[in-house]
Amino acid sequence: MLKISKKNLSFESATVSAGIDHNDQYGSHTPPIYQTSTYVFDNVEAGAKAFAHEEGGASHVYSRLGNPTVERLENAVAKLESFGMKDSDIYTGMAFGSGMAAITTGIISLARNGHVIAQDALYGCTSQFLKEEAPSMGISTSFVDTSDTFLVEMELKQHPDTTLIYLESIANPTMSISDIRAIAKLARDHNALLMVDNTFATPYHIQPLDLGADVVAHSSTKYLSGHGTLIGGALVAKKALFDEMNTWIFRKNLGGIAGPMDAWLTLNGIKTLSLRMKQHQEGAMKVARFLENNPLVEQVYYPGLESHPQHDLASSIMNRGYGGMISFELKGGYEAGVHLMNHVKLCTLAVSLGCVDSLIQHPASMTHSIVDEEIKQKAGITEGLVRLSVGIEDPEDIISDLQHALQ
Ligand SMILES: *Cc1c(COP(=O)(O)O)cnc(C)c1O
Repeated sequence: MLKISKKNLSFESATVSAGIDHNDQYGSHTPPIYQTSTYVFDNVEAGAKAFAHEEGGASHVYSRLGNPTVERLENAVAKLESFGMKDSDIYTGMAFGSGMAAITTGIISLARNGHVIAQDALYGCTSQFLKEEAPSMGISTSFVDTSDTFLVEMELKQHPDTTLIYLESIANPTMSISDIRAIAKLARDHNALLMVDNTFATPYHIQPLDLGADVVAHSSTKYLSGHGTLIGGALVAKKALFDEMNTWIFRKNLGGIAGPMDAWLTLNGIKTLSLRMKQHQEGAMKVARFLENNPLVEQVYYPGLESHPQHDLASSIMNRGYGGMISFELKGGYEAGVHLMNHVKLCTLAVSLGCVDSLIQHPASMTHSIVDEEIKQKAGITEGLVRLSVGIEDPEDIISDLQHALQ
């Protein structure tokens, strides 16, 4: 029989097997859910060694520090984010109770009283955290359009104390793309770290670590889990970096670890990540073309369209297509946006994204209402902008729904 080494699997096969480990004591096929707060020590010595992080101690102590189901998820996310890299074994994952827990724990531990250069159009809560909470922890931030690498370089000159550059691989809501490879090099040259929120792209489309980023963050609430059943987050980096920056200790003391049930649901979702992303991106490409040719639509933002300002860059750093997220600007502005959202029948009016069903929302009044007016204007978040998370329905049905609701 031909033996297939797991190392030679395609990415698609790796998503199916990433969370599988057939070493369960009862031979359970799917991962057991270790729904426990604490762990029993064989004796005092085993407990004492565990606390002292010594060899031979108990492997688990308390589920805020670590849990076997959560660790399965951490391994799976790390495997996919470092897929195909020659040093993939040195990467590790950390799972969190939300994307924001992952992002804030990551930023606090990595920025270390230093300066952060962040992308201007960030996820609303990340933007608010950097602007309003981080300064009280000694972390200052300047916001620049990271899709222009030159601006990042200029900002690094202005702020030699920069410890962290932070961006999103596909930025919400205008779908701008940054040159992760070039920015990672700039970060290295300036002794700073690069952290990339890879929620929109997922490792199916972009692997920031392979392009030189130091840390990847996820809201696994979205595509990784894929079915809208939980709130969760993750970080992936070299284990040595998390050790050096005490990220583990920050997670322990800030208390943001994922729960076992949510970790299990996310593991279950990851099995179909490739299959879902394939359908999301095929559908999104068709919907984007339909919108681009619709006379009521002013502009469509989708990295797969030739009209997208970073289409060539997207083609060079993205694999297997351009993702499932589209934004578009209606000619009729705010009123037209409200009309569309109140008349869709297949698409659901809801924030969040990356679900199997199509979700539609209005950034100006919803997800980005807490973002500064000036930042919103600079980032192109206008009153008539609509954001669509294209689901895995038949694209023709999504198009008919939009066509009907646009009129
Ligand atoms: C949703 C989201 C977050 C926040 O994640 P939660 O799981 O809601 O805490 C962060 N970044 C991006 C890009 C997101 O879409």
